[in-house]
Amino acid sequence: MSQLSMSPTPARDSLVSVSGLAKSFGDHTVLRSIDFEVAPGSVTVLIGPSGSGKTTVLRSLNALDVADAGRIRIGDVEVDFADRPVTKKQVAALRAQSGMVFQAHHLFPHLSVLENLTAGPVLAQRRDRDEAETEARQLLRLVGLAEKADAYPFQLSGGQQQRVGIARALAVRPKLMLFDEPTSALDPELVGEVLKVMKDLAAQGWTMVVVTHEIRFAQQVADQVLFLDGGVIVERGTPAEVLTHPGTERARQFLHRIL
Ligand code: ADP
Repeated sequence: MSQLSMSPTPARDSLVSVSGLAKSFGDHTVLRSIDFEVAPGSVTVLIGPSGSGKTTVLRSLNALDVADAGRIRIGDVEVDFADRPVTKKQVAALRAQSGMVFQAHHLFPHLSVLENLTAGPVLAQRRDRDEAETEARQLLRLVGLAEKADAYPFQLSGGQQQRVGIARALAVRPKLMLFDEPTSALDPELVGEVLKVMKDLAAQGWTMVVVTHEIRFAQQVADQVLFLDGGVIVERGTPAEVLTHPGTERARQFLHRIL
């Protein structure tokens, strides 16, 4: 056995590897030195106060924000942000690894639900339209909206729009799904249907990184919880470790406030 394969945590056990990630906006440092790994098929939940940098971590993974320093590897694509300039090709390669679901859906209002799902596969990925439509209908079944294929976004409830947003993110066949507070803009009675779809995806083995204040969801579904504060991961561990028995006063106070 080679030395490399005897390493206790071989890097390739993870689907996602983030190290030394740093990001500032002007003179405002938002991420200081973020390190974490995501195992394939696992769910990572990011929690922490507003402004702690959670969204910026997700946006960096999806290359919507370009980090100032550090490395991100997703699957076989690795970008070292110390190597300047970061090229458009690198940004596109990194972005293609993940699908992102936002707080409020970003559906195209003038396209039907089915067309929203096929736009990425057909226009960006140049896949066959019939095949993309077949797959889109399967994804709509997965999120419980098979009968809404021909509806337009304005005809759907907020929860249904978010479920279409999830299906659309899945339609480009990402390796990783990113969720940025997907239920925070919804009326309380619509939250459950979106969390159920996310639980189903987790049970099917999707690798997910989720920013949420839904602590019960995190307790039920997360494999690891990262607690951010001030652009630093202050605590990390299982839901039992971080959510039930937080080791720091900062995490205790935060959980006390939101529970
Ligand atoms: P969280 O998701 O934990 O609420 P964010 O990652 O959204 O935190 O934001 C962290 C900090 O970065 C906040 O203070 C926010 O105002 C700032 N920030 C985020 N995006 C930008 C941007 N594009 N320009 C300037 N400041 C930003």
